[in-house]
Amino acid sequence: TFDIRNIRKSFEGTEVLKDVSMEIGTGEFVALLGPSGSGKTTLLNIVAGLQHPDSGTLSLDGEDITRLSAGARHFGMVFQSYALFRHMSVAENIGFGLKVMPRGSRPSRRQIAARVEELLEMIELPGLGERYPAQLSGGQRQRVAMARALAINPRLLLMDEPFSALDAQVRQSLRASVRDLQQKIGVAAILVTHDRAEAWALADRIAVMGEGRILQYDRPERLREAPASEAVRVLAADAS
Ligand code: ATP
Repeated sequence: TFDIRNIRKSFEGTEVLKDVSMEIGTGEFVALLGPSGSGKTTLLNIVAGLQHPDSGTLSLDGEDITRLSAGARHFGMVFQSYALFRHMSVAENIGFGLKVMPRGSRPSRRQIAARVEELLEMIELPGLGERYPAQLSGGQRQRVAMARALAINPRLLLMDEPFSALDAQVRQSLRASVRDLQQKIGVAAILVTHDRAEAWALADRIAVMGEGRILQYDRPERLREAPASEAVRVLAADAS
């Protein structure tokens, strides 16, 4: 279980996260859904260790990780700003996180190659390991980014609008494969999105955010049946 407790964060005197708490179960897929400026990305960056909360704690299976560096958290990230390395082949991109692991836990070159092959199969791009990112479609690149994030067997998978640059059809097919991969690997996942349909299609639970708070955190069908506020009701009614 991943536990987010009483997180607060201000920028220049403005509080953008106001006492945010939520817990994510083992293997659970959670979406952070809310309008622009509601604090989704800030919360995800704090979970990733890229930003630090003013107060509050993060713990994973009882271990306090609030002060761990981003690298030491061993999380997989698919952020827009974490694009693929253009000068590395697909296989090198996927294996990157394994190659830079500390000596001792780092797999052998042969083990890395085997893991990369296995992931290429899982993302349905077998045989494309020698290609370069420029030779792939946008959807294929996001599959590779997903494989790179999962290669290290992360303790948590973090995604910030991973499909927003793609067209509707590609998004649809990627949604299915992300959920499939996440379940195969059995890792808990947090997805930041402002796309309701995406949240409803993917998430076990959705945290609806507004103005730095979690307005409601519940299963998609519960948000529709029992919205806690008008804002949630409107959002849930329109989501397909
Ligand atoms: P979007 O969907 O547009 O990405 P969001 O819900 O992810 O929005 P955040 O990016 O977390 O929202 O931003 C929350 C608020 O914090 C916004 O008002 C934003 O302007 C502010 N903010 C975020 N990062 C910084 C920063 N580094 N310095 C100052 N203000 C910031």
